[in-house]
Amino acid sequence: MTEDFKILLDEAERFHGHLCAGLVIGARMAVAGLRELGIREPKGREGMNLVIWVEIDRCPVDAIIALTGRTPGRRSIKMIDYGKQAATFVDTRTPDAVRVSVRTGCLEKAELMAKGLGGFNDQRIALHEALASMPEEQLLALSRVSVTIGAQDLPGETLATTICQKCGETVKDGRQAVVDGDVFCRPCALGRSYYEEI
Ligand SMILES: [Zn+2]
Ligand SMILES: [Zn+2]
Repeated sequence: MTEDFKILLDEAERFHGHLCAGLVIGARMAVAGLRELGIREPKGREGMNLVIWVEIDRCPVDAIIALTGRTPGRRSIKMIDYGKQAATFVDTRTPDAVRVSVRTGCLEKAELMAKGLGGFNDQRIALHEALASMPEEQLLALSRVSVTIGAQDLPGETLATTICQKCGETVKDGRQAVVDGDVFCRPCALGRSYYEEI
C-alpha cells in the first residue's frame, strides 16, 4: 500500500481499536467518496457541508468516521442499517452525491491476490495489503446519486422541540408523531419501543 494510505489506515486503526479487513475497506470507501466530492481536508472547513449516509453498522463505518471527522452526534453521519457495505457522501450545498458500494466477491478476489503476495508470514496482513492495493474499480462501485436532506435533518441548531403528551419527555427536531391532533413521541404513538419497562 502507499505511504499516504498507510497513514490513513493507522489513523482509522487508532479510532477503531484494531486493524481488520473491514477497516481497510472503509478507508478505501472514505478515500473514494472524498475524492469524488473534491474534498481534500474533510476535518477542516471543506468538511463542514459533508454528510455521509452509512448503510451498515460494522467496521467500515469507523474508518469513515475516523478519516472524515464526521460523527453521528454532529448529525453528519446518518446510519441507515441496510446491512450493506455502502455509504453515500453528500455535499449539502449541492444535490449531488456519490454512493460508494463494495463489490460482491471482492473479498474472495483479495484473498486470492493475498496468496500471491510474497513476504507475508501472516495471511491476514497479506489480505489487508491486497485490499489496500487492489484497483479501486475491482473493490468499489461508484454511482452519482441525489439525496434530499430535510431541514430537520441537517447539522446545526435544533429546529423544534415538543413534549410527548403521554410520557412527558422532550422530542427534538420534528421526530414527534401527531395522532388525532395529539402530539406523542414515536414509541408512545406506536405503543412499542426497542426496550420494555421492567
Ligand atoms: Zn474491525
Ligand atoms: Zn412519549
